[in-house]
Amino acid sequence: MPLYYQNSSSMLLMLIGFIISLASQLYIKAVFKKYSEVGNKNNLSGLEVARRILDRNNLGEINIFQVRGSLTDHYNPTNKTLGLSESVYGLRSIAAVAVAAHECGHAIQHEKGYIPLKIRSALVPVVQISSSSSWYLILIGMIMSIPKFVDIGILLFVATLVFQIVTLPVEFDASHRAIVKLEEYGLIDQGEVNSCRSVLIAAALTYVAAVAVSMLNLLRLLGLRNRDER
Ligand SMILES: [Zn+2]
Repeated sequence: MPLYYQNSSSMLLMLIGFIISLASQLYIKAVFKKYSEVGNKNNLSGLEVARRILDRNNLGEINIFQVRGSLTDHYNPTNKTLGLSESVYGLRSIAAVAVAAHECGHAIQHEKGYIPLKIRSALVPVVQISSSSSWYLILIGMIMSIPKFVDIGILLFVATLVFQIVTLPVEFDASHRAIVKLEEYGLIDQGEVNSCRSVLIAAALTYVAAVAVSMLNLLRLLGLRNRDER
């Protein structure tokens, strides 16, 4: 969105969004760093914890491999693989076991046919198109004064927001399953439960922040659209 389209309230919303986004990123990085430096009492690596949780849930066919980068951990339902980042895969920290267990939570969701995960997966192809094209349509619509383009762009933006909202229960549930399994299988000490929970709450906050930022952007877009109509 070029600056000449901004008014003061739009700029303020953008600034608030930027601060929310930055704060959530800094928070997860700080919490992850803190608990990456604390070893877990059972001296288990992220890989070991993930393998144990998956095997005990009859998910032995899921391959676990190491991926590059930090906080790049993910479960891929299409090829049933679990990628753990360098700071999770081989490390024996609180953060490593919490994140590894969380990713196993997604694998268990997939296995059990957890409905919000199904909805989220169904929305992925829609969002792949809508997230990249919405801003272009809005921009072209505003520059060339074609209100229909702006409206379609905003609708596509709403689709992306819906996807982000559906992601929230998926993430919270995966973290809940992670804590339950870590405790149930005795993979962490009772005194480590709250530390693991802190890591997972910080990670979940980044998804909450993404929703908040998108809502602010939607407000901005609606404000700009209504102003252009006048
Ligand atoms: Zn997750």
